[in-house]
Amino acid sequence: MTNKLDQLELLKEFSGVSFDVPLGRYSTMKCGGSARCVYRARNVEELSHFRKMNTFPETLLGGLSNVIVRTSGIGGVVIRLQNTGECDTGEHSVFWAGVRNFDACRMVAKEGLSGMEFLIGIPGTIGGAVAMNAGANGVEIADVLEWVDVVDTSGDVRRIARHGLNFSYRSSGLAEGIMVVRACFRLTPSSQTEVEMRHTQLLLERAKKIKFLPNIGTAGSTFKNPEQNVSNGMKAWELIDSAGCRGLTCGGAMISTEHANFLINTGNATADDLEKLGEEVRKRVFDMTGILLEWEIKIIGD
Ligand SMILES: Cc1cc2nc3c(=O)[nH]c(=O)nc-3n(C[C@H](O)[C@H](O)[C@H](O)COP(=O)(O)OP(=O)(O)OC[C@H]3O[C@@H](n4cnc5c(N)ncnc54)[C@H](O)[C@@H]3O)c2cc1C
Repeated sequence: MTNKLDQLELLKEFSGVSFDVPLGRYSTMKCGGSARCVYRARNVEELSHFRKMNTFPETLLGGLSNVIVRTSGIGGVVIRLQNTGECDTGEHSVFWAGVRNFDACRMVAKEGLSGMEFLIGIPGTIGGAVAMNAGANGVEIADVLEWVDVVDTSGDVRRIARHGLNFSYRSSGLAEGIMVVRACFRLTPSSQTEVEMRHTQLLLERAKKIKFLPNIGTAGSTFKNPEQNVSNGMKAWELIDSAGCRGLTCGGAMISTEHANFLINTGNATADDLEKLGEEVRKRVFDMTGILLEWEIKIIGD
């Protein structure tokens, strides 16, 4: 009798399927286990068909800039979108959700359209940005999104308007397993020069703030900032600092000495080191302040 892993081989007939993919290679954390099977969809129709046919558990991923993939890896099928796909720029710009934020920002800049500049330095894809309600410089996805097209777990495609999503800080409220495949943003006419100047300014500011990062694995902010009334306005980094966790290490994982809310892979960290260190920080902050920090990074894997 064939076992479950062998049965996954049945998915071979779909183009875009690969087996035993080391996800650490693609993750900004620069470590992590493998996926038994990865399917990269090229368009909505193919993804819908795949999800209708597939019977194995599914994990959705974008650019892997906000995840720790456990060392044991991911069974079932990881679904990702190809980085190129149909986009239509204008005052209502529609993007294929696999497109990288940086590329989407450059596309609209060429048309002199403003509103998405905040995304220029945020790694990852449009789909990941929508799912996480990514934001920077006081603007977040929820402020510019008009609608998304999604493919649900049964393979059905539907459009959800902005007011149909339950956005909050770093969350879109999308139900588990719902994959964003297109997103439409409301933009305003400006000029190419102005938008590009803003990009340059934001990228320079970011480079200064996180100048310690090149060649270091990270997934950006590790924990969400607690509600103001819960923490007396103290941000996650301040709580971590006050609990004495700046510079704390576990194997190759470290709480950055430059930015206390950044969990970093100094070179040889495993996903276990990163998760253990994060949990130790949560414990120390809780013991000290009574506040339980919530992971912003998603920890996935078996
Ligand atoms: C150096 C650095 C700086 C960062 N700065 C910022 C910042 O300023 N602001 C900020 O908000 N974030 C920041 N981040 C975090 C990260 O870039 C964002 O959360 C980003 O939006 C994640 O997108 P992704 O495509 O990489 O998603 P992934 O990391 O692959 O996935 C993240 C989550 O989104 C879900 N997801 C991904 N794609 C889809 C899809 N198409 N449909 C449904 N769900 C999906 C996944 O299931 C997972 O739960 C930073 C990260 C790094 C490494």
